[in-house]
Amino acid sequence: MKMVTLPGGETVPALGQGTWKMAERRDRRAAEIAALRVGIDLGLTLIDTAEMYAVGEAVVGVRDAVFIVSKAYPQNASRDRLRRACEASLKRLATDRIDLYLLHWRGAVPLAETAEAMERLKASGQIRHWGVSNLDAADMDELIAAGGAACVTDQILYNLTRRGPEHDLLPWLAERGIAAMAYSPVEQGRLVRDDRLSEVAARRGVTPAQVALTWTLRRDEVIAIPKAGTVEHVRDNRAAADLVLDADDLAALDAAFPPPRAPRPLEML
Ligand code: NAP
Repeated sequence: MKMVTLPGGETVPALGQGTWKMAERRDRRAAEIAALRVGIDLGLTLIDTAEMYAVGEAVVGVRDAVFIVSKAYPQNASRDRLRRACEASLKRLATDRIDLYLLHWRGAVPLAETAEAMERLKASGQIRHWGVSNLDAADMDELIAAGGAACVTDQILYNLTRRGPEHDLLPWLAERGIAAMAYSPVEQGRLVRDDRLSEVAARRGVTPAQVALTWTLRRDEVIAIPKAGTVEHVRDNRAAADLVLDADDLAALDAAFPPPRAPRPLEML
């Protein structure tokens, strides 16, 4: 499994698991938790959750083997409210620490205040690392200038159809050794139905999801967190971490999904 090194030297698997909308439908809950557990057994031990989607059950009994990422809403990112939000997440996750705690997106609270509040949570041991999500390169410059140099990741929308971050944000993060975490790496399932991607996948004898994920992981600084609700999809995604795309594959993908030639605003889902 490719690993990504966070600032400070800790390594995490480049392929993790998203959990948005998981375990919400009663009829699918058991199957989805089972899929997450299979993923953990296969090495997909980085689990992404948030205030609005926490899947504590999936990590019962395997807490020490997983790296839990959770997030706080921007309105909870103030000095007073961040601790309370974090404590509520810890309770929901039935754990005593969050490995990586993120500001979900930028809101009205000054970045300096959020950075300071995150550092306090780190000092108290409730979180081990902190980062941000949906911040563009200008926001990141501001964050660093505001005392946020300990930020270890920016979780962003990045996949073959959302290549904007390649223009400025990904190089910015790579230069500083800050990990990029690609959310919706198969564009919420839309990419697996894309004919252009299917063509490359068929030529290689793999699935479109695998090509999309392997492509995302081709950059050293990128971690991808696909959400898969079935064991079959989890296994399919796990295999993507062992696939290597050759120059012909990459050229075909560049032709079908052109890289950005100019800056584009950071997109969000
Ligand atoms: P995604 O991972 O790109 O796509 C999930 C969809 O793709 C599901 O419908 C899933 O179906 C399907 N899928 C997964 N693997 C597949 C495979 N091998 N073959 C066929 N279909 C497959 O979308 P996402 O859930 O939006 O993003 C991933 C995670 O990123 C989220 O779960 C969440 O943790 C995080 N996220 C963060 C933010 C943020 O603002 N920071 C925003 C959005 C998402 P099944 O469920 O049937 O397997």
